[in-house]
Amino acid sequence: MSSERLETIRLTARFKLNGEVDESLFEVFRAIVNGLLSYAHSRGITSFKRLKAEKYHELRQKYPNLPSHYIYTACQMACSIYKSFRKLTRKGKAKGNPQFRKDVIMLDDHLFRLDLEDWTIRLSTQNGRIKLRILHDEYHEKFRDWKVCQAWLVKRSNGIYLNVVFSRNVGIERSKDVIGIDINENNITIATTTGFVRFETMEREIRTAYFVKRCKIQKKIKCRRAKAKILAKYRNRERNRVLNIYHKVANEIVKISLKTNSAIALEDLRNIRSKINYSREINGRLHRWSFRKFQQILEYKAKLNGIEVAYVDPRRTSSLCPICGRKLSPNGQRLLKCKCGLEVDRDVVGSWNIRLRGLKMWGVSVPPESPSMNPEAGRFSATKVSKIT
Ligand SMILES: [Zn+2]
Repeated sequence: MSSERLETIRLTARFKLNGEVDESLFEVFRAIVNGLLSYAHSRGITSFKRLKAEKYHELRQKYPNLPSHYIYTACQMACSIYKSFRKLTRKGKAKGNPQFRKDVIMLDDHLFRLDLEDWTIRLSTQNGRIKLRILHDEYHEKFRDWKVCQAWLVKRSNGIYLNVVFSRNVGIERSKDVIGIDINENNITIATTTGFVRFETMEREIRTAYFVKRCKIQKKIKCRRAKAKILAKYRNRERNRVLNIYHKVANEIVKISLKTNSAIALEDLRNIRSKINYSREINGRLHRWSFRKFQQILEYKAKLNGIEVAYVDPRRTSSLCPICGRKLSPNGQRLLKCKCGLEVDRDVVGSWNIRLRGLKMWGVSVPPESPSMNPEAGRFSATKVSKIT
């Protein structure tokens, strides 16, 4: 019955490098990218092929000691920066000339060799090949059997980092059922074949607490530098705390999905135009970040376990009756009511509709005994509440 197909998943890992990389490499690379950018800008070139064809030989002569593939990657970066600059200009969000100011170098497979057996990287530079140790922890172990795609060398105030994109092929099982995932500001609710589960993330409380903390810091500390440093520290802590919760919830959902042989259906907010007022919560910039971040975490964890993931149309998932399709009206604080008699918890209805759309997409007929087809099930708030701490 189970037909398996292969899918490639990509994941980025960050390594801190132990050792020195000649500062001038960053400067030279930045100068090349900026030169390419102004050339591309003055002629409206968005094609990597054309940019490389017109500038490669000149740059080779100008930087004879620099390994030639840095010119390739600089062309790639210049093209992608220029393309996004053009997009922003059209929207009126950028003007003037495109500029590249970061201490970032793009690497391709000719420029570096990663060895995860003895945790080193060999890097080609204008002064020849250098070997650097990479710092690693438990998290990095899993990448040993992954394929290395591409990498970026990044200079930060506390050292040099290597961001590596790894890829791996995984076999994805054809599923017999679907779990609908609804991501709210303070909880993540899922609709499964046996009922609803609500995971309390308490994200709003966490965000508010950190917001208050930041306000206090703003007032208390006068020195701009010290302030920026402390604010950054708290921003990192906040982010890590939220991410930690996301990982835990995603692990729980993957477990349920494996147990029930279910695919995972998520709302597709990637193509929603800014005009559509999807919901007040999701319009918040921070929440939008959170929302996509959780989806990404869940998606790769699911695929690593061979679970199918699909995105469904997000429109009105939280306002239509999952039984008859009419518009729901509010009835008290947490409940929504329909003319057909359904009374349903606000958090439950989203995941319920998402599951139904997922089932339709998979062409799975819904077993009538399924609780998320049963009007009675919605009367209760999530049948199981899991607190994630
Ligand atoms: Zn109804």
